Amino acid sequence: MKEYDYLVVGAGLFAAVFVRQAIDAGKRCLVIDKRSHIGGNIYCENIDGIHVHLYGAHIFHTDNKEVWDYVNRFVTFNRYTNSPLANYEGILYNLPFNMNTFNKLWGVNTPKEAKDKIEEQRSEYAHIQAPANLEEQALTLCGKDIYQKLIKGYTEKQWGRPATELPAFIIKRLPFRFVYDNNYFNDLYQGIPIGGYTKIIEKMLDGIEVKTDTDYFEFIKENPDIAEKTLFTGMIDEYFGYKLGALEYRSVRFETEVLDTDNYQGNAVVNYTEREVPYTRIIEHKHFEFGKQEKTVISREYSSEWKVGMEPYYPVNNEQNNKLFEEYKKLADQEKNVIFGGRLGNYKYYDMDKVIEAALETVEKELA
Ligand code: FAD
Repeated sequence: MKEYDYLVVGAGLFAAVFVRQAIDAGKRCLVIDKRSHIGGNIYCENIDGIHVHLYGAHIFHTDNKEVWDYVNRFVTFNRYTNSPLANYEGILYNLPFNMNTFNKLWGVNTPKEAKDKIEEQRSEYAHIQAPANLEEQALTLCGKDIYQKLIKGYTEKQWGRPATELPAFIIKRLPFRFVYDNNYFNDLYQGIPIGGYTKIIEKMLDGIEVKTDTDYFEFIKENPDIAEKTLFTGMIDEYFGYKLGALEYRSVRFETEVLDTDNYQGNAVVNYTEREVPYTRIIEHKHFEFGKQEKTVISREYSSEWKVGMEPYYPVNNEQNNKLFEEYKKLADQEKNVIFGGRLGNYKYYDMDKVIEAALETVEKELA
């Protein structure tokens, strides 16, 4: 009999849910992560008493009561509601597009005035029957003002290309709200864990053996027979030595600064929608938790190209990459006793609630 039932590769959210359930069902598990900390991308670093979202701002939101009840077993959530702002040439607009945004853009007060204005703006582009790129698509959906002030520059920075060279399907529709409501999400449940995100993972992994600074590929050479099965939440193409080629990602670079002021921008998230400002957003972390510290910590986010070896953030799910993933998936299906899971194992952008859902489903199947 091998020492463990499961070798769990990764100490992120997917792995933590899987291993918690497996341990509770009496399985023997070892968790390893190549990073020096647990938590994967939801890890928060404590800087001057502020939980800094080191791998990008995270807001938990879900409509799934089962998932909400599950995470609430481990932490309590605060009442944070995501209400980002957009800064265009020094003027601030509320997001998502709602009556506050329309009022600031055009001075309209009623939903009817706002709808009429949007129709007037769109009518200028009515001649575009089949939008050939993202710019044309956006103009036919919202007209010039919203596109130029709030969409164009931000999208170009995110993708590192002019909007005229981006495919139209990136924007399928634009969610307009004709109410004065700045809550970004429509979900029933939303918040930030009191004590930060790392606490969720700490609680889930409570009493479970974890080795950080341990890369799977090195570890398995020395311990090939350590476990009956492996859960792998790293990159699927890396697992197979990139033998079919590398899947592409977009990366993000963060410039984090401690400032000697208690409140820098008065909001957790401010998007910079001009092309000329090099960063896409500034996150002021303390506002996620209504922090009262004397100092503040901000992170400027820069969207960047990704190369093998860099931190992979967003999968680029175009036709070519999806096809390549399908080929890797075929190899994965043949791999005996290895389960691939999580955002990197499935080459898919998952919000946290979807990761929990998927992990619960996977472990349930495993333990059945
Ligand atoms: P990860 O957290 O990436 O965990 C995988 C772990 O595996 C990592 O710790 C890694 O070090 C480890 N690993 C990889 N390879 C190896 C190896 N060879 N050996 C050992 N260990 C290895 N979701 C929301 O719901 N709300 C948000 O606001 C939100 N914001 C986001 C912002 C950004 C910028 C990004 C990129 C994502 C955001 N998400 C958000 C999604 C969220 O981050 C993911 O759902 C979640 O982190 C995925 O968890 P995971 O366990 O699948 O992957």
